[in-house]
Amino acid sequence: MPDSFRLDSAGDVEIAYVEELTLPTSVRWMLEGVDREAVAACAEWMQPHYQNADGYLLQSIHTLVVRTPDHLMLVDTGVGNGKDRSGGIPAFNQLDTDFLGRLREAGVDPLEVDTVLCTHMHTDHVGWDTHLEGDRWVPTFPNARHLFVEHEWMHWHEVARETEATARLLTDSIRPVFEAGLVDLVPADHEVSEHVRLVPSYGHSPGHVTVEVTAGGRTAALIGDVMHSPLQAAFPDVKPPLDREQAAPAAARRAVLERYADTDILVLGAHWPWPPARLRRDGEAYRAEAVSDLRD
Ligand SMILES: [Zn+2]
Ligand SMILES: [Zn+2]
Repeated sequence: MPDSFRLDSAGDVEIAYVEELTLPTSVRWMLEGVDREAVAACAEWMQPHYQNADGYLLQSIHTLVVRTPDHLMLVDTGVGNGKDRSGGIPAFNQLDTDFLGRLREAGVDPLEVDTVLCTHMHTDHVGWDTHLEGDRWVPTFPNARHLFVEHEWMHWHEVARETEATARLLTDSIRPVFEAGLVDLVPADHEVSEHVRLVPSYGHSPGHVTVEVTAGGRTAALIGDVMHSPLQAAFPDVKPPLDREQAAPAAARRAVLERYADTDILVLGAHWPWPPARLRRDGEAYRAEAVSDLRD
């Protein structure tokens, strides 16, 4: 069974991780130039969940399944199988995983998904929106409304005019969903349902949003790629190569850290492995404390 937890004591709202890939990543690549001793000092809260004993960051690509009494939602859909991602991150090119099998094991029938949310339109967040049927890319969740933040979409639509990799991404993963009439363009502060809303967290991409899920007075914040690893809580101003397109990811990171630090809100990153964390202030920066007693 996948890692999952119930947000409220009544058990009305559940969040589950369904993994597509895991990618151990070196700290030096993620946070170039950070002081080794400062990184070593984070091991006490980074290990074992978010960093292995050799010091590698544990990165995962997963979808987050949000079940509420009225909805079966997915937040971000990974890289997808068979996508031509040559020229990008090699591990994303022409994937062939059993992600859909794992989704089914988690009790999710693709036909029953009614909402697909997207923190931002990078290749590892929209991939399973489509899959190949013969030689055509078709929606994987044909009964779901796919909510995209309008100005995130407008941005990538523009970029695709000049960038071949983006044009490819839109052609194989986004346009088929538009063509099937399944897209709703929404504002970045859209209220999705009684329990789920979007909160702008622009920075890593121009229309990046956090998804906040609330039930029974408790909240989980699905922060997408505001921080690729919890380690960034300690180094919020260091810009990883994954943020290269954007001018102000650090400001977004600081705003998100400030919003959730020293609260009970559970924070889930799009690439943070299980379990969720709570953020704490720590001197000039922050730390992420894994909450390891959540599982049902
Ligand atoms: Zn991203
Ligand atoms: Zn990502």
